[in-house]
Amino acid sequence: MPVSLLFGVRRCLRAAALIAISGFSAASCATLESGNGATDLRENTGLIEEVKAFGKTLGIEPTEALSRTARDEAVLSMLWLWMQREGTLALAAPVDVRLAIGYGADRERVRIEQVYRVDHYSVYYRQGNEFADARSVATVGFAEEPIVRRVKVVLHEDLHGDVNFKIPWEIEEAIVTPLGSLAAVEYFRWKGDEKNLQYALASVSEERQVSRELNALVARAEKVFALEGNVEAAKQIILSLLPDYPAYQKQFERQVRGQYAPTALEAKLSHDLAYYRYFNSVADLAEKAASLKTLIEDLKGLPREVTPAIADEFLQNLSAKYGANSR
Ligand SMILES: [Zn+2]
Repeated sequence: MPVSLLFGVRRCLRAAALIAISGFSAASCATLESGNGATDLRENTGLIEEVKAFGKTLGIEPTEALSRTARDEAVLSMLWLWMQREGTLALAAPVDVRLAIGYGADRERVRIEQVYRVDHYSVYYRQGNEFADARSVATVGFAEEPIVRRVKVVLHEDLHGDVNFKIPWEIEEAIVTPLGSLAAVEYFRWKGDEKNLQYALASVSEERQVSRELNALVARAEKVFALEGNVEAAKQIILSLLPDYPAYQKQFERQVRGQYAPTALEAKLSHDLAYYRYFNSVADLAEKAASLKTLIEDLKGLPREVTPAIADEFLQNLSAKYGANSR
């Protein structure tokens, strides 16, 4: 595969690489704990333990992800890259290339400046400290995030644990993302935290809107790629359709900031499909199901080798089953 990658990375990367090699956890680019970082981390640990215990009552088995903090362990961050063949979208098949590169520093300390060239591929990248593995530790940056997001992330990463879901990545992500958001709503309801319950509910309805708009945009984009012979022209047409999908447009523009939109387009749409394709359908199911616990249990019945076509059918059958129950 003729993939040539050229990264322009700020000097910090070299520093971070040296740190990783020499084993020091403190970096010269930024201090690990500034201000009340230590307190934040302690409070955050309590929250994470409570959320994981709550998750268990919904049938979400806890994992080691995010259960340690940056004080106990060196931080491991990820650079994720998605590549999709130009002029195509990962609708019926998985995204063409998906890779993760780990590095030993908070994601904030190493900023990728640009992916300059990958022949014949659209490229989108993202950096992060949270992932479904014991090596994902809670950083000060994470402890400072709004509580609704933190609760959502902890439940999301636990849902990825093999004891909960072990299916092909694209489908797993599309199932785990709505379940994490819906479980966060239940957590704030259980806590009686009215203010954050409202934020969590607003976040679910925003994500449902993104899901509906993304699916509609992708359906149109497929047609544009099929009809327009020139890939560059097709990309411009698709980008010009974005204002018809304002909730998705907002997310797209925020997340590709600093990347070249026409280069990122196919990979970004394919990436987002992996997360949001079933969000609205799963939220619909949650409204019909006896409880979120029931829905999670039923979704665990998705077959190991599930494909998008099988998943569509599975969700439709579940909807019919719940519809029949409620009548
Ligand atoms: Zn995930």
